[in-house]
Amino acid sequence: MSSVMTTMPPIDGETCLDDESRVVAATDFGHIVHGAPLAIVRPASVRDVSLALAWAAQSRCQVAAQGRKHSVFGRCQVERGLALDMSSLRRVHGADGDLVVVDAGATWRDVLAATLPRGLAPPALPDYLGLSVGGTLVVGGMGSAASQFGAVSDNVVELQVVTGAGEVMTCSGARNPALFDAVRGGLGQVGVITRATLKLVPAPAEVRRFVLSYASLEALLVDQRLLAAGQRFDAAQGAAVPTPNGWSFRLDAIKKIFGRPPDDGELLAGLADDRPRAQIATLPYLDYLSRLDALEQALRDNGQWSFPHPWLTTFIGDSQAEAIVPGELTRLTPPDLGPFGQVLLSAFRTQAFRTPLLRLPPEPLCHVLNLVRIPASDDPTTAARLVAANRATYERLRAAGGTLYPVSAFAMSRDDWRIHFGGSFEALRAAKEEFDPANLLAPGYGVFEPAAG
Ligand SMILES: Cc1cc2nc3c(=O)[nH]c(=O)nc-3n(C[C@H](O)[C@H](O)[C@H](O)COP(=O)(O)OP(=O)(O)OC[C@H]3O[C@@H](n4cnc5c(N)ncnc54)[C@H](O)[C@@H]3O)c2cc1C
Repeated sequence: MSSVMTTMPPIDGETCLDDESRVVAATDFGHIVHGAPLAIVRPASVRDVSLALAWAAQSRCQVAAQGRKHSVFGRCQVERGLALDMSSLRRVHGADGDLVVVDAGATWRDVLAATLPRGLAPPALPDYLGLSVGGTLVVGGMGSAASQFGAVSDNVVELQVVTGAGEVMTCSGARNPALFDAVRGGLGQVGVITRATLKLVPAPAEVRRFVLSYASLEALLVDQRLLAAGQRFDAAQGAAVPTPNGWSFRLDAIKKIFGRPPDDGELLAGLADDRPRAQIATLPYLDYLSRLDALEQALRDNGQWSFPHPWLTTFIGDSQAEAIVPGELTRLTPPDLGPFGQVLLSAFRTQAFRTPLLRLPPEPLCHVLNLVRIPASDDPTTAARLVAANRATYERLRAAGGTLYPVSAFAMSRDDWRIHFGGSFEALRAAKEEFDPANLLAPGYGVFEPAAG
């Protein structure tokens, strides 16, 4: 254990130096990269975060905030540095009208538990509610309502951030806007989010859900374009699912029910799905939002939750969809996705997005292409092969104008990041120099040169 840790200031929360805590902090959902920190701080307050970061800056110690550790390639880890376990700061503070203030370590489940009883919810939510608010905002946050509301980070009104120097700052579109723009989608490079003020919209008690089946990718794409243009549903998500007889294609869409139930016939008019196979039901809104809980439970029960997860998420421009997607599906073998795996493929309008660092292809309509690989093996050789396959896929997509959703399992060089951020890179670099000049924060991404010493 490094003697420098003995100089850490006392805090109200907990500081853990034991091996067991360090091993836990060296693990994430990817189960591919492992880097043990020297210490873990569980802050009890924003002041604790500030004290820890000020100490780290003085000691030249790297720091990684850890939300719920759903990173898939060590991005929330910090080898021989300080891990800040933000799950100890998860209060949902007072709600005022259509806003709610939450600690960054709260999960989306925590947020909804406080807002749904008041008939309100954030307009854009990730598909999976177990992520932390802070961990989601630093990557952007994508969900099935993206076409209408953009990313989760487009719907945050104000952030409280502790900079790399330990200074507590508030930022928004009007106040410290450069910091606001560098934090949202900025991969935790310039500060640790401690609180977020989130926008809320009316939430229904129930939704009408339509799970539609398609005979071909082409038919799915035609309908996704139609729906993205018309905003007929409130949320929609497409997928290609491997079956013993090849790919099957699916669209999962909802209409929120406020008052009179919607007219199914009107909503489905003109769609090219295999109508006899359509599954249509009315269910509580929270059940729809929690739709991945059953999969999580199944994977926890059979042990696959702790297997390697070499996931890849990218965005492709609509003009390239037919040129790219069929080839990528052909390259995927069922074992590479696993029995629970699938390829998420959802269209969304880019007009709804305003987070500068969330990089999307410059087209009015784009698609998320997400390889949800859940291999039925914990063999590291298989994981390494799939990581290499991710890299090759990314390069093909990038050559076709595609971009990365930076929650993916493969290494990115500093040049890759520079290309990724494109015209926004200089703004991020300038913010990094101002707010984390020693480059100590979130080293797991490798966006900037490692800190000297
Ligand atoms: C099962 C699963 C489902 C997912 N579903 C979705 C989805 O529906 N939509 C979507 O957009 N993404 C999804 N993701 C990806 C997910 O958004 C990112 O991996 C996200 O960063 C994870 O959040 P977390 O709280 O677990 O963060 P962590 O993995 O703990 O951290 C991720 C990064 O954020 C930094 N960070 C964490 N907290 C803070 C903070 N308070 N301030 C500053 N930086 C911080 C960390 O240092 C790290 O760099 C999913 C991932 C998994 C594994």
